Amino acid sequence: MDVQQLIALDNAHVWHPYSAIGADLPTFPVASADGVRLKLADGRELIDGMSSWWSAIHGYNHPVLNRALQIQIGKVSHVMFGGLTHQPAVALATRLVELTPTPLQTVFFSDSGSVSVEVAMKMAIQYWYAKGQPARQRFLTLRSGYHGDTFGAMSVCDPVTGMHTLFSDVLVQQYFVDAPRCRFGEECDDAELVSFRRQLEQYGHKIAAVILEPIVQAAGGMNFYSADYLRGVRKLCDEFDVLLICDEIATGFGRSGRLFACDHAGISPDIMCVGKALTGGYLTLAATLTTEEVSATISSGEPGLFMHGPTFMANPLACAAALASLKLLTDSDWMANIARIETALQAGLAPCHELPSVVDVRVLGAIGVVELKEPVDMKTVQPLFVDHGIWVRPFGRLVYLMPPYVISDEDLALLTQALLRVLSRC
Ligand SMILES: *Cc1c(COP(=O)(O)O)cnc(C)c1O
Repeated sequence: MDVQQLIALDNAHVWHPYSAIGADLPTFPVASADGVRLKLADGRELIDGMSSWWSAIHGYNHPVLNRALQIQIGKVSHVMFGGLTHQPAVALATRLVELTPTPLQTVFFSDSGSVSVEVAMKMAIQYWYAKGQPARQRFLTLRSGYHGDTFGAMSVCDPVTGMHTLFSDVLVQQYFVDAPRCRFGEECDDAELVSFRRQLEQYGHKIAAVILEPIVQAAGGMNFYSADYLRGVRKLCDEFDVLLICDEIATGFGRSGRLFACDHAGISPDIMCVGKALTGGYLTLAATLTTEEVSATISSGEPGLFMHGPTFMANPLACAAALASLKLLTDSDWMANIARIETALQAGLAPCHELPSVVDVRVLGAIGVVELKEPVDMKTVQPLFVDHGIWVRPFGRLVYLMPPYVISDEDLALLTQALLRVLSRC
């Protein structure tokens, strides 16, 4: 198949994320990838600024991850998890329990972030059911959030950007408060939490859990908010006896400068979701962690079982990749490395402040965001990024970078310079 043929067949038959068939937007075939470089089928090389949506933290074609998978393929690639178990799953669960906040002690594996959110929501509902409070089936969350594309997860995404009107008859109505206004690094007093408290006072008896993305609201707006706010939410959840679910799918494994974004606030949720970077971007795997209290309550009350069990639960290849990825991360001086990337992103993106099209530039850990006045025109901007040798995928008014952690200072400079050149042409 030559490149033109491939593109034509792709246009005709293949859906892409948030896409239309026949829309004439550019799609670029990748032939291979290595380190921080994507190699296109036409021979061009791009510096990756996206880590394939926060996941490929060690870059592509990593010898250690490749080897871990080769070894596991030689043993067993997949086996059902009902009634059977295996070393990669047990070792990975144990490692996740060690790395996450201490109260989190049990792990439920699933295939994608969205499903891990469904699992978290079902766990919260089953927890209250087992405690004799079956009316608690709703969730309280923040506007501008993103938790995935399945129905439960969608119901707690931002109602506007999540297009809730389109699915109004099937989506459960949840409770929302405005996105936090106090920025990361700023103090935030209880006044900011007034509407949060009001919702809990009014609807607490129907609410199973608060669900939110800690510190970084990612796909819903790239909003970095105050650690005080998160601490305040934890306190309110305790006061009103509501569970707290932290969705660390985007933020987990160092991206925000701490291993988990919760660590910025020194809090622990009752349920935590991880995904995306869990396998270093090699395979799809997610996990939902809970406290002893939550798992013991679900397991001892009616119906005595947690009602979920994916076919590919704890896939051994995915678990082996995750174990190798976590070892690479935690054996490295990841915190200093993320601080290095943060400094380079701040320096490299600072000139964007001067552009008339830009309203804000913000950086946290290995996340750099340039917020524009107007939504970008993907049809012109996407090929411009490619022509400038970088892979950046904006959404709406947000152009952002979250490169693989292995990116060098030289490549970071090339990435931010190219971004600046493209933005100054729009
Ligand atoms: C990406 C994302 C999800 C959904 O994960 P999928 O693997 O795409 O299903 C959920 N929550 C957050 C915070 C995410 O960034």
